[in-house]
Amino acid sequence: MSTIALIAHDKKKEEMLEFVEQHMDLLQTCHLIATNTTGTKIKEKFGLDVETMMSGPLGGDQQIGAKVAMGEVDYVIFLRDPLTSQPHEPDINALLRLCDVHNVPLATNKKSGHIMLKFVSVANTIQS
Ligand code: PGA
Repeated sequence: MSTIALIAHDKKKEEMLEFVEQHMDLLQTCHLIATNTTGTKIKEKFGLDVETMMSGPLGGDQQIGAKVAMGEVDYVIFLRDPLTSQPHEPDINALLRLCDVHNVPLATNKKSGHIMLKFVSVANTIQS
């Protein structure tokens, strides 16, 4: 089962919910982890099982980064808000860096997320 990390900045949370809805069939077969606010919204809206970390500004991105470093995350979908400065920018950059260090696929916008999940679904079909 693939482990997918989902993170969305505040102005991207609605977009993340729409994204999750579009990929519900696949995502309910995956192990989902998320920063706290993003994950809580997904759980409340769709009843999906999501393992939540701390909120991003309180260390959630770092927790997900640690899991990436430990080889516990297969894919990261991080809907970033590129137009608003974030107090936890260093944590965000650290997570992006760790994805590159450990060669973990990272989608930072909705369209690349769609492409990534298309790949996950094809890979699942081949494996089964
Ligand atoms: P949140 O964190 O899901 O707790 O809002 C996301 C972020 O800002 O990194």
